[in-house]
Amino acid sequence: MTKVFLTGASGFIAKHILRELLEKGYDVRASVRSDGRKAELEAMFPNAVLEFVSLDLNKDDGWQNSLMGCDVLVHTASPFPLTEPKDPQDLIRPAVDGTLRGMRAARDAGIKRVILTSSCAAIYKQAGKAKMSPSDETNWTSPDDPSVGAYEASKTLAERAAWDFVAEHPEIALTTINPGAVFGPPMDSRYGSSLELVEQLMTGKVPMAPPMDMVAVDVRDVARMHVAAIELDATKGERFAAVSGTYRFIEMGNMLKAWDPSLKTPGREAPAWLLRFMGLISKDARALAGNLGRTLAVSGTKAEKTFGFKFIPVKDAIIASAEAVRTNKMQKAG
Ligand code: NDP
Repeated sequence: MTKVFLTGASGFIAKHILRELLEKGYDVRASVRSDGRKAELEAMFPNAVLEFVSLDLNKDDGWQNSLMGCDVLVHTASPFPLTEPKDPQDLIRPAVDGTLRGMRAARDAGIKRVILTSSCAAIYKQAGKAKMSPSDETNWTSPDDPSVGAYEASKTLAERAAWDFVAEHPEIALTTINPGAVFGPPMDSRYGSSLELVEQLMTGKVPMAPPMDMVAVDVRDVARMHVAAIELDATKGERFAAVSGTYRFIEMGNMLKAWDPSLKTPGREAPAWLLRFMGLISKDARALAGNLGRTLAVSGTKAEKTFGFKFIPVKDAIIASAEAVRTNKMQKAG
């Protein structure tokens, strides 16, 4: 029986990966940052035999020997906030050091297969690339480009570190899954940053849409790619953009408005000058302004061809998210 080590099991995406792994009959040892999250997962999968370990991306404690007896590492854990941190290293350090801690522990356990959750953020901002041309897996974000935010740098540098590691350890076959913004139905009410964005679009917190693209994908597709990659030899040594489509922010809002006309979705796009002006006072606006005049479109064609499936339409993913956000709000309201 193949045994998979899954990091960051308490995350929005990882819970779907865990469900998919269990459904496919894999044995799973899961890592969580703190013991408290273990009970949540045990309650979610009451009939599963799950092993747990507590690991922090920022600390060595517990990593050594933690992967012993496993055959595959699926590394999803990485900080994913919606706002820019004070110090970019608050994201870069755990992303890169945590990836390397995972890779070293995999090597020490004799693991030959690693699936890493990277991001389109590691693809779509290559310096010097024609600004309006869509990107694909051959493109790499330039982490030092002034338009690159802390999260984008963290994902790019972490993925680079993983590829550099396997260049030194060719016995390990690496696949990276690089999702766009991930939407879709969450497994529970702790759904993290990507559905918070949908919530903001629904509730009037975004009065004007940022004038830019968003690459998007459904969490169910992201999870099945992680799990299918384990057995699919054609994915070894490859990166795969997980992207169903690229839309303007305003179009995402319009999808929600068509679903429920009473929602307070953004009525129009913010003018570029306003975003630049706000960028003088706000780090978050400055990060968004770095995207002006650039297409962030990424093609998901390679994934569809190699994995042999069609991505769930973005509209379905967005509406599934909105339904979950609404249910969650109603439950909280009692
Ligand atoms: P979540 O915030 O839901 O999950 C992040 C996971 O990483 C959580 O399990 C979290 O643990 C864990 N984590 C964060 N920091 C640490 C740390 N210092 N030590 C140990 N664990 C840590 O986000 P997602 O599920 O959305 O993200 C999962 C992965 O997917 C990340 O690598 C992210 O970069 C990537 N991704 C996400 C996209 C999206 O739109 N959601 C798009 C592209 C890539 P805890 O629960 O304790 O906080």
